[in-house]
Amino acid sequence: MSNGTFPISLRDMKFVLYEQLGIERLCQFDKFKDFSRETFDMVLEEGAKLAAEVIAPLNSVADKEGCIFEKGRVKVPQAFHDAFKKYSEGGWIAASVDAEAGGQGLPESVALATAEMFVAACCSFTTYPGLTRGCANLIQSFGTPEQKAFYLEKMYSGQWTGTMCLTEPQAGSAVGDVKCQAKKEGDHYLINGTKIFITAGEHNLAENIIHAVLARTENAPPGTKGLSLFIVPKIRINGDGSLGEPNDVNCGGIEHKMGIKGSSTCTLNFGDNGKCHGYILGQENQGIQLMFQMMNEARLGVGLQGFALGNLAYLYALKYAKERIQGVEITKLRDPNAPRVPIIKHPDIRRTLMTMKAYAEGLRALIYRSAYYADLARVATDPKEKEYCENMIDLLIPVVKAYSTDIAFRMTEWAIQVHGGYGYCGEYPVEQLCRDVKITSIYEGTNGIQAMDLVGRKLSLKKGALVMGWMKEVNEFIEKHRAHPTLGSFMAQLEQAKNTLVNASMHFAKTAASGDPLYPMLHACPYLEMFGEVELAYLLLDQAIIAKDKLQAIFEKAGAATPEAQAKVIEDQAEAAFYSGKIHAAEFFVTNILPQVQSRATTILGGNRSALAIPEAAF
Ligand SMILES: Cc1cc2nc3c(=O)[nH]c(=O)nc-3n(C[C@H](O)[C@H](O)[C@H](O)COP(=O)(O)OP(=O)(O)OC[C@H]3O[C@@H](n4cnc5c(N)ncnc54)[C@H](O)[C@@H]3O)c2cc1C
Repeated sequence: MSNGTFPISLRDMKFVLYEQLGIERLCQFDKFKDFSRETFDMVLEEGAKLAAEVIAPLNSVADKEGCIFEKGRVKVPQAFHDAFKKYSEGGWIAASVDAEAGGQGLPESVALATAEMFVAACCSFTTYPGLTRGCANLIQSFGTPEQKAFYLEKMYSGQWTGTMCLTEPQAGSAVGDVKCQAKKEGDHYLINGTKIFITAGEHNLAENIIHAVLARTENAPPGTKGLSLFIVPKIRINGDGSLGEPNDVNCGGIEHKMGIKGSSTCTLNFGDNGKCHGYILGQENQGIQLMFQMMNEARLGVGLQGFALGNLAYLYALKYAKERIQGVEITKLRDPNAPRVPIIKHPDIRRTLMTMKAYAEGLRALIYRSAYYADLARVATDPKEKEYCENMIDLLIPVVKAYSTDIAFRMTEWAIQVHGGYGYCGEYPVEQLCRDVKITSIYEGTNGIQAMDLVGRKLSLKKGALVMGWMKEVNEFIEKHRAHPTLGSFMAQLEQAKNTLVNASMHFAKTAASGDPLYPMLHACPYLEMFGEVELAYLLLDQAIIAKDKLQAIFEKAGAATPEAQAKVIEDQAEAAFYSGKIHAAEFFVTNILPQVQSRATTILGGNRSALAIPEAAF
């Protein structure tokens, strides 16, 4: 797992990409024909090197130094400058952007795997290239040829960075309440308004910042339908592409946050002096539509961010549990001379580590699979496969975003617990991870909003076709492996949990149809967790089945026929230990975590409305 002192789960990343998903298939399509497993491996190795050697050393420095606001300017941690240069020069900002548009043209799934390493290494640093990519991708997807020529090369190369400006004081989750104004003036609009909480809104990493701003044109209809999207540079750009005069975008201050302190979170005032020029992307009133098209990508990114930190917390906890000596084995409690043991020998620590391992491996499978669906949706020639992949992305994205980030926060907390008192102190990295990861459940649509999206929109989208397609996939998997000699019994547990989830979904549909839309929303978050639990059980069992065959082949090659001989192979060979771990993780998840689906369903089907009924004065 280790790459220097910064741990990376490279083996599991490759397992998911190649052995579970089989991403080499992408190389059969024209778009990815220049790649092979070897080139993907080279990219992963390069990414691991950059993450461990250049980005990881920034993390605790950034936490201590933070960003400094002075007279409208923001200084990022000093060490970010050199790292940003190396990151940009390596072409990582545009890793999955088409080569013709200035990128490396990598599949999304491979770029995402490298992003896992970068984000884990220092997530406050990666907000700058991450937002740049998000903003540039908007221009790439919806800009005019002139806009693309003007901005993309400089953004993808890191010469200029980007932002996404949606939030205003009165418009957080309720994006439709955005008030920022855009008044047409010749070939541009005059932008006027204040945006808050803008990541990378002001900093000294690049010579210009390109803001993607949601604003309302004159006479626009109220709500989201009246929003338009504008490109607003911090510094105006002359016709020849050189920098011109300041564009009346001013930073009013930065937030002092519990985590991601190296990421500047800015209040931005647009057009205080009536001189802020914005250039429309797409047409008037199309803003939210365009943003929606980029939303899956952004939510996948935040799900990954949360997961990457949770996974890293697990790796640190595992390392600590193997090193920290405390107490004796429980069977030798009465023997004062019993040898002192590492805490990984204690059952409670093993349960905690196993919980983290199972979640980490299951979440990686979920997130990478979503990225692979995105790849297939881009290249598939069969329209049915294309539609299926798009449906799965739409259905799973709220789960990817909310389930991953909620679980990841808990994983960082469990990692602190494994470290005992040291976990609560600054010299160990896990307390920072716990602070850093919390934001992932809040931005890019809070997790409460994600759950409402799943229950209120995705379940019924296309007359339920998304969820029915997903169920068919899980059913086929169960049928295929029901008779598996060792893992077959777990299929029955998966089937029961899946059926329970279906019952809860039907119950929501009935309550909503009977004129009670509040009840499904009351339980949207626990429902999303149930969904995540069933999905992870499915993906982990899929991994276990693959691992079982591979492990058997290793045993046969080693001539290990007895349990003792096989245990010795697992002890001696890293590959055997890896596959054995997969089987144990799936078994643990299905028997220890999946049963939670039943208890959540009992509550949902029980119909209790006390949280809705209680008068506010009685809280
Ligand atoms: C560090 C940081 C970086 C950020 N970066 C950016 C950025 O780059 N660009 C940008 O535009 N914004 C950014 N944001 C803003 C972020 O997206 C918002 O904070 C988030 O959308 C929530 O909005 P809010 O804070 O106003 O909370 P609110 O919307 O007030 O929500 C408060 C609580 O109420 C719940 N809630 C709200 N409405 C409903 C509802 N209808 N039904 C059920 N529950 C509801 C929410 O789930 C939440 O739990 C950032 C925020 C932070 C803290």
